[in-house]
Amino acid sequence: VVWHVVGAGSLGSLWATRLARGGLPVKLVLRDAKRLAAYEANGATLTLVENGVESRLAISAQTADSAEPIERLLLACKAYDAEQAAAALAQRLTPDAQIILLQNGLGSQDAVAAKVPNARCICASSTEGAFRQRDWSVVFAGHGYNWLGDPADPSPPDWLSDLQLAGIPHEWTPDILTRLWRKLALNCAINPLTVLHDCRNGGLMQHHCEVATLCAELTELLQQCGQPAAAEDLHSDVQRVIQATAANYSSMYQDVAQGRRTEISYLLEYACATAERHHCVVPHLQQLKVRLIQHLTDKGLPTN
Ligand code: NAP
Repeated sequence: VVWHVVGAGSLGSLWATRLARGGLPVKLVLRDAKRLAAYEANGATLTLVENGVESRLAISAQTADSAEPIERLLLACKAYDAEQAAAALAQRLTPDAQIILLQNGLGSQDAVAAKVPNARCICASSTEGAFRQRDWSVVFAGHGYNWLGDPADPSPPDWLSDLQLAGIPHEWTPDILTRLWRKLALNCAINPLTVLHDCRNGGLMQHHCEVATLCAELTELLQQCGQPAAAEDLHSDVQRVIQATAANYSSMYQDVAQGRRTEISYLLEYACATAERHHCVVPHLQQLKVRLIQHLTDKGLPTN
């Protein structure tokens, strides 16, 4: 079965190049004819830079308009592009199609599932890190892990062996929602504050009380919205992450610094909306959202 990969950005390229290197059939689905022409002008190859070593992989590409049926789709765009990208390919999906969703945060997965009601949607939570050096070239910056799961069906799919062949570290879990919620909570406790205090993750050691207050509200929220496992020892985990990644700039910090749209709607905004739905009182989290939105507005960036 061919792996159709939508989005030749950081994570999409990281997956596509490793699958291709493992000898598996991969096809890229690019945004439009212009991007396809640019890719072909680059020799229709993607470059993976790993420990300073470049591997160049020939991978064929197409646009969403191609007629070829899609049985397996890796959706590797940003959360705010996922619904539209999936909708554009809905007609091409086979009756037994499976989609793997690489988006950070929560909210986009349900939006995608609503557009492709017959496909099996498998969610991923990735701790791998990659960035684009230039177009069609990705740097594998941080080794990590990929947790995969289907909130609607605990049985593992038959393609995990492909990931094994490709050397993509992964584990199938029936508790993918716990993973996604935990990651979202860590993100809410750290990323917005690094933007507002203009600091690396380690800079939050100077804002210990603010972090502790947010963790208390996030813990309460997770307990009330049916995710108690994601709430366990959240504060100590946040402190551990702050220390372990002290020298790093958070993804949201980098997005803002580079004038890129953030995924706020699928992170802090999603947490606040869930709190409202469950009548859970989280004043500091709400205030954090207001401050972050004001900051993005001041910078001329989208607030959704
Ligand atoms: P990215 O580098 O911006 O890549 C997204 C790609 O999707 C871009 O190449 C974009 O095309 C493409 N795209 C968007 N809509 C499309 C469409 N309709 N058809 C075809 N292509 C489309 O983003 P990323 O860093 O890989 O992040 C993807 C997701 O993974 C995010 O939710 C992110 O939070 C998550 N994540 C990323 C990392 C990481 O280290 N990068 C780690 C963990 C999680 P253009 O190039 O034409 O704009």
